[in-house]
Amino acid sequence: KKLPLDSSEEPGVRQVNGACFSRVKPQPVTKPRFVAVSHEALALLGLNGEEVMTDPLGPEYLSGSSVMPGSETAAHCYCGHQFGQFAGQLGDGAAIYLGEVKVPPGQDSDLLRENPSGRWEIQVKGAGKTPFSRQADGRKVLRSSIREFLCSEVMFFLGVPTTRAGSVVTSDSRVVRDVYYSGNPRNERCSVVLRIAPTFLRFGSFEIFKQADESTGRQGPSYGRHEIRSQMMDYVIEMFYPEIQRNHPDRVERNVAFFREVMLRTARLVAQWQCVGFCHGVLNTDNMSILGLTLDYGPYGFMDRFDPNFICNASDNSGRYSYQAQPAICRWNLVKLAEALAPELPPDRAEEVVDEYLDLYNGFYLETMRKKLGLLKKDEPEDEILITELLQTMHNTGADFTNTFRSLSQISCPTEGEEEEELVRKATELLLQQCASLEELKAANKPTMDTRELAMLLSMAQSNPALFQMISDRATIARQLEMLSKLKDLMETSQEELQSKHAEDWSGWITRYRKRLARELEGQSDVRALQEERVRVMDSTNPRVVLRNYIAQNAIEAAENGDFSEVQRVLKVLQKPFSSQPGLESPAWVGRGQTTDQGERD
Ligand code: AMP
Ligand code: MG
Ligand code: MG
Repeated sequence: KKLPLDSSEEPGVRQVNGACFSRVKPQPVTKPRFVAVSHEALALLGLNGEEVMTDPLGPEYLSGSSVMPGSETAAHCYCGHQFGQFAGQLGDGAAIYLGEVKVPPGQDSDLLRENPSGRWEIQVKGAGKTPFSRQADGRKVLRSSIREFLCSEVMFFLGVPTTRAGSVVTSDSRVVRDVYYSGNPRNERCSVVLRIAPTFLRFGSFEIFKQADESTGRQGPSYGRHEIRSQMMDYVIEMFYPEIQRNHPDRVERNVAFFREVMLRTARLVAQWQCVGFCHGVLNTDNMSILGLTLDYGPYGFMDRFDPNFICNASDNSGRYSYQAQPAICRWNLVKLAEALAPELPPDRAEEVVDEYLDLYNGFYLETMRKKLGLLKKDEPEDEILITELLQTMHNTGADFTNTFRSLSQISCPTEGEEEEELVRKATELLLQQCASLEELKAANKPTMDTRELAMLLSMAQSNPALFQMISDRATIARQLEMLSKLKDLMETSQEELQSKHAEDWSGWITRYRKRLARELEGQSDVRALQEERVRVMDSTNPRVVLRNYIAQNAIEAAENGDFSEVQRVLKVLQKPFSSQPGLESPAWVGRGQTTDQGERD
């Protein structure tokens, strides 16, 4: 590493000033053994998964229990805004760098375009205390490790930029954890994930230079160390954005171009999340990759029933990181990055760049959504409305996100002599299978807040609006009230009435969709070829299977009982999320989503 290193060998939690890395050694776990490896991810490092798995030293090295020859281990000092507040120093509290691996010769040039540094940073996550562990122990348990391992790889195979995971190791070392949804502390096995990325540097890496924050009074531990900031910017741009370095001899222009590229990658990333129904859950600035990768898999979730308000993080009471909030929150995070880069990045120039974000995001989002709907030949301005109406219908009918989109390729372009009514009826039937039942919708709309408390807050809102405005959780209250009124409607509806209402909603949308598809045909001579192309594009854009919460949960429970085969099976199926794999996948994995308990973090 060229970056400044804190070499005080002293162990223990501390404030690290004037350095962005601290030397620290991983703490060994007892009897490390593999739960699973990703052959594809290990191959990036020039490793053969089979050999690694059968080598007795494999789990030793990949858990950091033994340190590989030549490896200089370290933990990174970073800061971050957590839930909108500057939190000061955070840093790698549980992850430890093992070092960098040169991309082995012979790996294809696409890969070097994605990772022009020609090296991979590798980390062990859950390898024990670092100077940044604060009150925690630097350990991870099987639940959180399997979730991170699986989702890192799943995202890659879905085509979403992400950090990778090479292996997950469990052990006989144990730690006690409070389990969020059960309320009972559990004694759990320490587990370690090997993470791989061109770099794990993040927005928060640059926040160590932040001046004292107005609201919290906190200051970055390297405040005033302009020379380190310059060095860090040079390092990131030269290593990971070499084209920008080459094309911009002027330093300020280079920095603007760099920030613009980070903005663009971030906009594209969020658009991809939205289009696959993924909610990150903790979009703090320290979880925002400087390369636009999905970073840090904690309480993330893929949506089952579509709900724009979907919140996957049980401690996110206000819905700051809900599904629909993601695009705007990432823009907010970009503003914080710009602040951290000032004055190397002139604030007025940064503002211009941030102003481009929403349009770019919308462009990426619409581009992918058009593919998801199979609208390939024309860009009509009304497409945006068609897409919004689809999502509205999905929301109203509680439709399963993944399966609804996957079903759309079965609705074909209108052809001559066909029975329009019959086709719409059939398509409606198909989509109704993806909708929620009355009982499911009732459960989904049950307010979680005490109703007396709600009534009190409501009366306060009416009698003293100024006081009500002071309540920071207003949005939550509004949502709870909305749910309550929906629930009231549902209570007065029968399953039959609901079903016919859903059928009406869907056949209306399908009719509009088919009118739009008819316009796709204009000027096309070969209708069959177009139809085939549509199906091909749609079925390689709308996954058949994603890592639903219960899929991960089943694999975790089996692994906790000593059966690791489920984790491997899930990985295998999700390596091909667009194709059917009879004999390997479970029918439930591609069925309509069922609601389950919260996924867990650490
Ligand atoms: P996260 O919410 O996962 O992004 O983590 C926020 C901060 O908490 C980071 O500084 C992490 O390194 C730290 N952290 C998370 N889990 C642990 C753990 N088990 N031990 C020590 N630090 C942790
Ligand atoms: Mg994090
Ligand atoms: Mg985390």
